[in-house]
This record gives sequence, structure tokens and C-alpha cells, in this order.
Amino acid sequence: MGTGKKRPKNKKLRIKTGVLLDLGGIKKQERGKQYLDDGRVLALEFSGADAVKASVLGEKKYSVTITGWDAPKFRCLCPSFENDGFCKHCVAVALAAEQGVAFETISKTYVRRLVGGINSIKNTVMPNPGCEIAHTSNEMGVAETGAVGTHGEYQYRQTEKGLVIWGGSAAKSLLGKFVLLRLKDGFRIDGYYFYDGMGGNFRPVVMPADMDLPDWTDDSRNPVFEPEAMPDGLDIEIASYIIHDHTPKSYFQKSIFLRELEDIGAFWHGCSDWHIKGIVLEKSEVYDAIKSEKYGFTEFKNTPEFLFPKVSFLADDSVEVSFFFLSGGLGTTSGLFKPTDIHQPGGIVQFGKRECIIDMGPGPIP
Ligand SMILES: [Zn+2]
Repeated sequence: MGTGKKRPKNKKLRIKTGVLLDLGGIKKQERGKQYLDDGRVLALEFSGADAVKASVLGEKKYSVTITGWDAPKFRCLCPSFENDGFCKHCVAVALAAEQGVAFETISKTYVRRLVGGINSIKNTVMPNPGCEIAHTSNEMGVAETGAVGTHGEYQYRQTEKGLVIWGGSAAKSLLGKFVLLRLKDGFRIDGYYFYDGMGGNFRPVVMPADMDLPDWTDDSRNPVFEPEAMPDGLDIEIASYIIHDHTPKSYFQKSIFLRELEDIGAFWHGCSDWHIKGIVLEKSEVYDAIKSEKYGFTEFKNTPEFLFPKVSFLADDSVEVSFFFLSGGLGTTSGLFKPTDIHQPGGIVQFGKRECIIDMGPGPIP
């Protein structure tokens, strides 16, 4: 892993009112605005004192540069620019630059490959060790309180409150699918399951690599839901132990990894409203999902044409990751959602606002 890319700088650059209109006329002005709204500006960075470089998705991908703001010089490699010396791509980039935030989107190929890799591992992970171990231990007649044992890579103990299980490689092998992420040296990820007969849940933890799995506490609280009941030495704030190279792709991977980790415990009953298969990259995929009647159609609002994940470098040194996914969990609202995560400089990730772009009402599991 490299030492990291230099952090993109942000600038507030605003082209004088009227310049874009004078250069391109109302038609190019409107088309350029539409391009921006459609999510066609794929990346934007500020360079030097007064220049911006961007890439825009038109007939194909075009590079656009703008230099100087009082008397801006534009450059685009599209045929329209060749003919007219100006184009809608220039307008889209000028308008995007006004927002003063450098960003990059993650390509379709890259997202598809990552999703495919994660799905392949989901099929191999024991979906609900709590349930399986409960059955096994019952059959073996060791289910009375205090019974302890091992099952594959898991250690378990029957407590009065429920079955408590340590271990399992699900979280570790999951991290292996995120090639841009690694765990801080000297630590490891492990898992703590709790199963009470009706269902269970899982909480991943980080612990020193050389520490043995601790004894189960006699605390009667379920530490999956009440983390203060976790034994000493275990940390549930996993995000700050994940090292990456601060490239846009690595931020995106971290956002997805943290969701998947939380979701491991919900594989089997689909109660989580996060579904990696629900990630959509184009408006047409949203249409297709609706047409397949997987979702109850209500109202198709202004959905951008392109929904690529976006990584933005904010002025306060935090990094924002947003993307789109379709969701319809048990007892949750189905629809198109756009979560926004805030990655703090220290590595903590806050799952920020989650916008509902299309509300499709109570829905089935996708
Ligand atoms: Zn152009």
C-alpha cells in the first residue's frame, strides 16, 4: 500500500455571472446545468492558483480544463468544442467548480467487481452460527446453563440469558475482499454472537492480536445491543483501526466494509435494510427494479441519470462518501436511498444523513 495521495485542495471559484451565457447561449447553458444534475461530472480537482480539471461523461468521457476566472479559458476535447470553441461540458464543470469541493466518482466496473467479490464470500459464510450451534449443542445434550464447547472455529457457552459465541472468521475474511483496507498492526477482528432461542445478533470487535478470546462476562445484558457489557480489551469502534491510503476508492471501500460488517449478523433474517446487491449506478436500474414489481411503485421523482458513488474532499479535512441503493427490508420502507458518510481525519466514520430519494412504501425483501 502506498503512502497516500496528496489531498486535493478546494477553492471557491466562481465565473462571473453572464460569462457562460455569453459564450454558449441559453441552450448550452441549460444543457450544461442538466449534465451536472444528471451526475455526468465524474471528477473535479483544483490545480494551481486558478485552474480546474474535470472529467465529464458525454458521448464518451471528456477532459475539461478551465483556467482563470475573470477571463476564463476553457478547453474540452469534444467535437462541439472543436467546432464552437465552447460546449455544455464546460458549463457543467464551471457550475460544479462553483461548489468549491474537489471530488471523484467510483466507476461502474470497479463497483461491480467489489460487489461481486463480497457476494461470493456471503455465500460461504455460516449465516447464523448462533442457530446452528444451538441446535448442535441441544442434540449433544449440553445445552444446560454453563455448558461450554467448540464448534468449528467458534467457542460457545450456554448462559442463562442465551447462547454466547466467540470467534468465527467471517469478519476477517470479509476484510480480505477489501484490498485497499487493512487492520492496524497488532490487532485482529473477531466476532461476538448472542443467541437467545428466538434469534440472535452479532457484534464485530477489534482486539489485540495476541489476546485470547476473553471469558464471557456474567453480565446479564446482551453485549450485542449493550456494548458497555463487552469484556475489557475489546473495542467496537472498528473504523479507527482500519488503515487505508486515502484515495477515493479506499474511502468508498471503507464505507461499504463497515456496513457489511454490521450486516454479518443479519444475513439470515434480512432485517437489516442495507443490501449490497441494492447498489444502483444508473437510473435505468431503478426503472428495471420497479418494472420487475420487486417494489411497489409510487412516484418517480427527479432521479439523476447516473448514480455513481461520490467521494468529496471537504474544507474541514473530512471526506464525504455518498452513493445510492435500493432497499426493502422486513418492516422497513422500501425505495431508493442515498446515504452520506462522513470520514473524520482520525479514521472515525459517521453514518450521516440518509436521504430517501424515492419512497416506495413498505416493501418486500429484495
Ligand atoms: Zn465538450
